[in-house]
Amino acid sequence: MRGWRCGTTVPIARAMTTDDPAARLAGVREQINRAARLAGRSDPIELIAISKTQSVPAITSMIEAGQHVFGENRVQEAQTKWPELLEQYSQLRLALVGQLQSNKAVDAVALFDEIHSIDRPSLIVALARAMERGRRPECFLQVNIGEEAQKGGCAIGDLPTLLADARAAELPVVGLMAVPPAGVEPAPYFALLAKIARDNGLSGLSMGMSSDYATAVTLGATHVRVGSALFGERA
Ligand SMILES: *Cc1c(COP(=O)(O)O)cnc(C)c1O
Repeated sequence: MRGWRCGTTVPIARAMTTDDPAARLAGVREQINRAARLAGRSDPIELIAISKTQSVPAITSMIEAGQHVFGENRVQEAQTKWPELLEQYSQLRLALVGQLQSNKAVDAVALFDEIHSIDRPSLIVALARAMERGRRPECFLQVNIGEEAQKGGCAIGDLPTLLADARAAELPVVGLMAVPPAGVEPAPYFALLAKIARDNGLSGLSMGMSSDYATAVTLGATHVRVGSALFGERA
């Protein structure tokens, strides 16, 4: 029963063993609270339920269980699922966490309250123009924290310039986002992202997914993006 002692693994596994969305949600929230206490934190931590590939009924169950913030990785998929839900439920908040093409910037700004995947100057230009229409989603700059060829995000060395561009364009930048390399201990990458944010005067940290959100919270995550631990494995 090693997991009982090491804390982060067992309760996540327990959250996964139930089919009840409310129980899963409670389990994840409990883990976030526990990790925050461990780190001596009392600042708010936003749980983003990543609902990509999930059906409207599955999402509705999670809303009815009390979850209000959701994340999608594709603009087009979000446009098919969310307009009716946004009409039906008030107080929902939507985050875009996947790659964004500049030609979808207007659609993204119209639908989302947070955009976590800003990683290049051309996208900053497109978003700034789209925000002239009035909506101003919170912006996160995505950093390719493991310097992986296939991953989204700007190179670590390019972040200061990208941030300067975003500030010059008056985007409402609140923080940084990253997805660490798969299959290795994520903590050093979370710590590095937190340091880069601190060095650049940013307080928002979007980091941590189903397998590592508790670790991310202990290292300062202000936004965690949790999919399968809430909804079950994606098909
Ligand atoms: C899918 C996805 C998540 C959630 O992944 P899980 O492992 O299911 O929690 C988080 N962030 C991003 C960017 C994603 O694409």
